[in-house]
Amino acid sequence: MSVARGWQFFMHPGPTNIPRRVLQAMARPAVDFTGPEFVALRDRSLERLKGVLKTRQGFVIAYAASGHGAWDASIANLFSPGDKVLVCQAGYFSENWAATARQYGLEVEVVATPERRAVDPNAVAERLAADATGAIKAVLLVQNETATGMRHPVAEVRAAMNRARHPALFLVDTISSLASYDFRMDEWGVDLAVGGSQKGLMLPPGFSFTAINARAWEASQTARNPRRYWDWRPLVEDGRQVCFCGTAPIPYFYGLEAALDMIEEEGLENVFARHRRLAQATRACVRVWSQCGSPGGGPEIYALDAEAASDSLTAVLTPPGHDADRVRAVAAERYGVALGRGLGALQGRVFRIGHMGDLNEPMLLGALGAIELALVEAGMPHARGGVEAAMDAMRAAAAARIAAVAA
Ligand code: PLP
Repeated sequence: MSVARGWQFFMHPGPTNIPRRVLQAMARPAVDFTGPEFVALRDRSLERLKGVLKTRQGFVIAYAASGHGAWDASIANLFSPGDKVLVCQAGYFSENWAATARQYGLEVEVVATPERRAVDPNAVAERLAADATGAIKAVLLVQNETATGMRHPVAEVRAAMNRARHPALFLVDTISSLASYDFRMDEWGVDLAVGGSQKGLMLPPGFSFTAINARAWEASQTARNPRRYWDWRPLVEDGRQVCFCGTAPIPYFYGLEAALDMIEEEGLENVFARHRRLAQATRACVRVWSQCGSPGGGPEIYALDAEAASDSLTAVLTPPGHDADRVRAVAAERYGVALGRGLGALQGRVFRIGHMGDLNEPMLLGALGAIELALVEAGMPHARGGVEAAMDAMRAAAAARIAAVAA
C-alpha cells in the first residue's frame, strides 16, 4: 500500500478546495443567532451575495441544506400541483431538478438537447410559441451542467422567452457557475437563481440559497405546493430574509464573509478571468491527449462546441473500451490527485477535472501532469505533451497580460 506524502490535490468539481482563511473564519465558538453580531453578519453577507449574483432588484434566501434543498425550495414555493414547467435538458443535474419538480406533482416537459451540445434557445422559443394557453409556468435551465462540463446560454434562453412573448418564470441553477464565470440575474431577466456553497464560493457543502425577484415572490404567495422547511413566507420580511426555519447555519456566514472578502479583493471579473485561464490551459492539454493514433482516439473534451465548454470544470470522455474510473483510481492512489467521476449515464466513461474555486496555475499544472502519468499507467491511449500545451496556454495568457499592462 502506498503512503500519501506531500499535498493531496483535490480537483473535484465540487466540493472544491476550502481556503485556509475560510476555514479559520468558520472555526469559532457559537454565537446567539438572534443577537446583534450574527444578525448584522447575516444581513451584510446576504446583501453582498447579491453583488456576485449581479442583482439589485432581487434578494437572497439561504438554507442550511445542500443544493438539492434549494431545488426543493424553488419548486415548493413557486408552483402548485399540476403546474407545468419546461426543463432544458442538459444532463444529470437538469434531470434531477426535473425529478424534484415531478415529486411535487408538477408536469415536466423536457426540451431535448442533442448529446454533447448546448441547450438550443430556438427549441425553447418554439415550444413556448406553441403554448398559446400559457400552460407553461416556468422555464428551468442549469447554467453549468457539472456532469458534462458544459455551459448553457442563460441570456439567449431569456431572449428566446422574450421573442415568444411568454410570461413563464425563468429559473436558473448557478450552483457550479456562480463566482466562476459570469451570471447576471437582473440583466438576463432571471426570476429565481439557485446557488450553493461548495463550488466557486469556496465553502464547505451543506449551505445553499435561492435569489428571487418580485415576480417570484408574487408567485410564491398563491402557490399551493406543500412546504414547511422551505417556506419563504415566515423567513422574509419587507423583501429580505430575517430568520431561518430552525437554528441558523452560523459558521457558514463567517465563512461566507471571508469568501466574499477574498472574491472582492481579487475582483469578481478577475476571478472569472482566472477561471477562464485555467480552463483554457486544461482544454489545451486534453486536446493534445486526444490526438493519438489509436483507432478509438484518446481522451477528449466532452463538449463538442468550444463555446459550450465550461470554465468551472472539464469533463473528459475516455475512448470506448477504456475505463475512466481506472484513470481516477491511479491518479488518486499513485499521485494523490482526486478527480470527479462520471455521473449517471456517464459513469465510467468520463472523468472530471474541477478547475474552480481556490486554485492557481501551479496546482493545475501539477494535477494535469499527474493525470497524464495516470493515463500511461491506466493503459489509456493518448498523445503525450498535454502539460506542455497547458504551459503554452498559460504563456499566451501571460504575454497578453504583459502587453495589456504595457499598452
Ligand atoms: N446543481 C448543480 C449544477 C450541481 O453541480 C449540484 C451538485 O454538484 C447540484 C445542483 C446539487 O447540489 P448538492 O450536491 O449540494 O445538493
